[in-house]
Amino acid sequence: MAGDAIRRTRFAPSPTGLLHLGHAYAALIAAQEASPGQFLLRIEDIDRDRCKPEYEAAIYDDLLWLGLDWQHPVMRQTDRMDAYQDALTQLAPLCYPCSCRRGDIRAALSAPQEGALPAGPDGLIYPGTCRHRPMDETGPDDVIRLDTARAFDALGIENLSFRDECILPDQDHILSRDEFLDGIGDVILSRRGMGTSYHLAVVIDDAEQGITHITRGKDLFDSTWIHVLLQKLLKLPTPIYHHHRLIRDDSGKRLAKRDDARALRHYRDDGTTPAQIRQMLNL
Ligand code: GLU
Repeated sequence: MAGDAIRRTRFAPSPTGLLHLGHAYAALIAAQEASPGQFLLRIEDIDRDRCKPEYEAAIYDDLLWLGLDWQHPVMRQTDRMDAYQDALTQLAPLCYPCSCRRGDIRAALSAPQEGALPAGPDGLIYPGTCRHRPMDETGPDDVIRLDTARAFDALGIENLSFRDECILPDQDHILSRDEFLDGIGDVILSRRGMGTSYHLAVVIDDAEQGITHITRGKDLFDSTWIHVLLQKLLKLPTPIYHHHRLIRDDSGKRLAKRDDARALRHYRDDGTTPAQIRQMLNL
């Protein structure tokens, strides 16, 4: 799928709340960057406790109101659990089960040092307590982590790289193996009771949907290293990235789903038009 010349982008919201202005910007940029190719939609609903059908319905409704149109069928991550399981099986020789809770990790990390604990795009840098455990001892309360050092060894590479159309577009972004180990660490590929993680699911689904250009907020820039590593391990193509600016409120804070005041629904109810929304977003 990804081998053809069609430019494909996607918008991948999680139905955990109403879409706000930041989502409108992300969706409009993705649709604009698809032109003249295809704009796809993916519902990222692996967090079953937080996702709600009414929020998914609101996503379609708000996107249609904005004037967007997307390819069908829409991909929904909860329909894709078998694909995530296949990938986990493939990566199992490079993984280990981990029973550490956040408190255990904090305690292990704070022992040798004082001050802020080291963290990266997947949270605290895991100190490796469970790294010796074999996969056949995985229990129901374990998460699955990637042994990142072993993953780099298996690939026989010292650096990862990707291109971004928006941030320093004329050069490759490069991260070394050591920078990955120190700044990101052993990432979680399957969360407790979830059967996957955001990072694993997004990589597999972007490949399955044949996405050639991934447009998303700058806040996910550092996560892209995890995605590029997983693409290499799973022999999937690395798309071109486009990490765009974030929409902030008047005090400079990034918008979150709980900020109801910025929900598109609220603007709609107040009589704002889609054209005015575009104007507010400088589009
Ligand atoms: N589902 C993610 C979110 O709502 C988007 C992930 C992505 O674009 O890669 O933030």
